[in-house]
Amino acid sequence: MTTTFADLTTMRVGGPIGHLHVAETGAEAIDVLRAATAAGDPLLVMGGGSNLIVGDVGWDGTVVKMASTELEMDGQLVTAAAGVEWDRLVKATLDEGLAGLEALSGIPGLVGGTPVQNVGAFGTVTSDVLDSLSVYDRQTGLLERWTSDRCGFGSHRQSVFKRSDRWVVLEVTYRLRRSDQSRPVEYVDLASKLGIEVGGTAPASDVREAVLALRRTRGMVLDPEDHDTWSVGSFFVNPVLTEVPDRARDCPRYPDVKGTKLPAAWLIERAGFPRGYGEEWGNGTVALSRRHALAVTNRGGATTSEIMKFAAHIREGVEGCFGIRLGPECDLVNCSF
Ligand SMILES: Cc1cc2nc3c(=O)[nH]c(=O)nc-3n(C[C@H](O)[C@H](O)[C@H](O)COP(=O)(O)OP(=O)(O)OC[C@H]3O[C@@H](n4cnc5c(N)ncnc54)[C@H](O)[C@@H]3O)c2cc1C
Repeated sequence: MTTTFADLTTMRVGGPIGHLHVAETGAEAIDVLRAATAAGDPLLVMGGGSNLIVGDVGWDGTVVKMASTELEMDGQLVTAAAGVEWDRLVKATLDEGLAGLEALSGIPGLVGGTPVQNVGAFGTVTSDVLDSLSVYDRQTGLLERWTSDRCGFGSHRQSVFKRSDRWVVLEVTYRLRRSDQSRPVEYVDLASKLGIEVGGTAPASDVREAVLALRRTRGMVLDPEDHDTWSVGSFFVNPVLTEVPDRARDCPRYPDVKGTKLPAAWLIERAGFPRGYGEEWGNGTVALSRRHALAVTNRGGATTSEIMKFAAHIREGVEGCFGIRLGPECDLVNCSF
């Protein structure tokens, strides 16, 4: 039976895959990448499929799914292959007495995806802990070792890897701290759950448990029984603007290197789309999560085109209300809204 993207992504939509290669090692991935490039075969690299939506037409070419699982700890440096499951890495580092990743507990996907969108949660982003990575350059055919400063981190959820098919991340090294105490907790809800002041620290394993508990209340830990988690997490990116329109003057604001960042969830809810919105819209297969307005969810049986139609509907509503056009945080392939 043909594998589809619906089988391999957390949104559970998307059409058939031409040729699927599950690469068990970095070397195997490079071989497939070289062969596909030489043959001029369209190529798509994926990890856990938790930030990716592909059209109902699927992908008529090669898909490389990273599945390399080497993991090495050397002092405070931890090196993981692109195919290591992210949360397995977080737990393994905490079990080894290494702190730094605790706030990123419970995020779906694989190690190779973390630098792509500079994954972050509860005040920690990948670039805070990333030491270096190995990257294969499809244009030159070279394997290179990059330090964090080459990755183009800066503005919210950006990197040079995002939406570029030039580089493939093969392995990532994180610089952690040998300590049982967390990084300072800057996030109000998390500090309050831990019973500490904002800026204080707590045992890193307690922070992990508190983060997982908070994420579950928001439908942000994958659960096949729970449609609120059939998503890509945040569907829309928090907009960064050089000038905030007057209509959005009441919206909370956060500084960003490129301007002012506004919370997209606030804009969506205030534009008349509460959590759970959509169950009465269309044929009921797509709705906002009942626990988080930023997550577009598949209620069962949705297609990519239904997801796109719904996303366009939300975007138009927000634009009409505030004059701010929301864009996707996830990667859209062979589909758009
Ligand atoms: C329930 C839920 C909660 C989430 N919560 C968060 C959160 O708190 N914070 C957050 O930042 N994100 C969150 N996400 C989004 C997602 O988990 C992350 O973006 C994750 O890092 C994606 O990794 P992946 O392996 O699934 O990548 P995929 O979805 O497979 O791929 C995403 C993109 O990265 C590219 N890519 C993947 N691997 C590589 C590689 N090795 N080299 C080059 N390109 C690659 C793909 O081509 C694609 O463009 C959440 C998603 C879900 C479903």
